[in-house]
Amino acid sequence: MWSGGAALMRSLAVVLTVTALAGSRGFGAEDQPQATPATWRVGVARRDITPKGPIWMAGYAMRNHPSEGAVHPLWAKALAVEDAEGQRAVIVTTDLIGLVREVSDPVCERVEQSLGLPRQRVLLNSSHTHCGPVIRKCAEVTYGLDAHQSEIIASYTQQLEDHLVAVIEEACGAMQPATLAYGEGEATFAINRRKPVDDGQGIGENPQRPVDHTVPVLAARAEDGRLLAVLFGYACHNTTTPIYQLNGDYAGFAQLALEEQHPGTTALFMIGCGADANPAPRGELALAQQHGQALGQSVDSVLAQPMQPVHSRLRTAFARVELPLVDPPSREAVLELATAENVYQQRLAKLLIQRYDADGALPDSYPFPVQVMRFGSEFSLIGLAGETLVDYAFRLRNELAGERLWVAGYCNEVFAYIPSERVLQEGGYEGGDAMVYYGFHGPFRPGLEDRIVGLVKQLMDQCAAGSP
Ligand SMILES: [Zn+2]
Repeated sequence: MWSGGAALMRSLAVVLTVTALAGSRGFGAEDQPQATPATWRVGVARRDITPKGPIWMAGYAMRNHPSEGAVHPLWAKALAVEDAEGQRAVIVTTDLIGLVREVSDPVCERVEQSLGLPRQRVLLNSSHTHCGPVIRKCAEVTYGLDAHQSEIIASYTQQLEDHLVAVIEEACGAMQPATLAYGEGEATFAINRRKPVDDGQGIGENPQRPVDHTVPVLAARAEDGRLLAVLFGYACHNTTTPIYQLNGDYAGFAQLALEEQHPGTTALFMIGCGADANPAPRGELALAQQHGQALGQSVDSVLAQPMQPVHSRLRTAFARVELPLVDPPSREAVLELATAENVYQQRLAKLLIQRYDADGALPDSYPFPVQVMRFGSEFSLIGLAGETLVDYAFRLRNELAGERLWVAGYCNEVFAYIPSERVLQEGGYEGGDAMVYYGFHGPFRPGLEDRIVGLVKQLMDQCAAGSP
């Protein structure tokens, strides 16, 4: 019943998008960029963050040895934008499984000190590639790291922090006059992966469940019309292959394809609310390349059409809301868990005991960060943290129907799956079973969806009201 509703919602969303964009045709096109005055300033930078030697790879628990070289480099890329009033923000994208608070917070503190950029003006996204390195403290229960590998991961994560600070500083040091324009395309290789099985929810391919095929695109062009940067998104796990060669999966290939197609351009990928979507088909590296090319072509066709010019006014907001967890187990119950046969339960128990020893208690909630960047009145970028499920994108677009929204997931901190209320009730991997890998004693309590949506609306109001 609800899946029919979701399908209807999706077609409505597509119709609304097409109508809204159709209304904008004629304002500006790739072949007439000089028609739009360069009222923004934009800076772009990139850093190669490919690990130098063998390293444990993230995302799949079944891997049993470190990486063996790379298919192509992994990148941290930064797009800095500044409006006519001098309000500046930076969006950073990374070919990584996920950043954590222990990385994002120090990076943002450092750029606040060096550039005067407050937290609300820096958004850090990770593509969730399952062919990148493990990041320290990101779902560490998943991996059986020995002391040597833990050391490599810790050292890589420390260097990553330096790269992220540097890439933000470099983008801000390279500002030039530019125009911004927004458009949307579509790519169809994502499929909902939650499949009912006899005893609950499994992982498979389920065309009956919702999926978001929108490809949001933000183009930054120089005064002479050159494409300086293209930021694009897609709501789907980067899980085409479990190979041992580092690569950015479909998102890495899409960025490569766009940069080849538009020499001199920096293509930045930002993942959407794709926590319950996988690419289909999957399993081979050639398929990652195929999906990347499809996504790149979708972006390319948006760039070739008239896009909506974005007025030079930027407003940003950032705040946290506590998401309560189920009651934590006692220390005795955790000690009991340590004797479980399941290796992940054993590792979880070890982590929880360390927390009991360090803090005297286990956390009973997580402070979930929400970020909003409002670009003119043309669109708002909403940055949700964690592995965000697709229902959030649909609900926000539905309830804020007067606004054009780009809802990104995996922003700032990837600390758990963020189920919608529906998925929390259904259970299964994204509904609560995956909490063990992220080091939590149990699932979130009901009510998290309303808390998150409530904060998004509050921050949207704040940005609309006008304070920078
Ligand atoms: Zn995931």
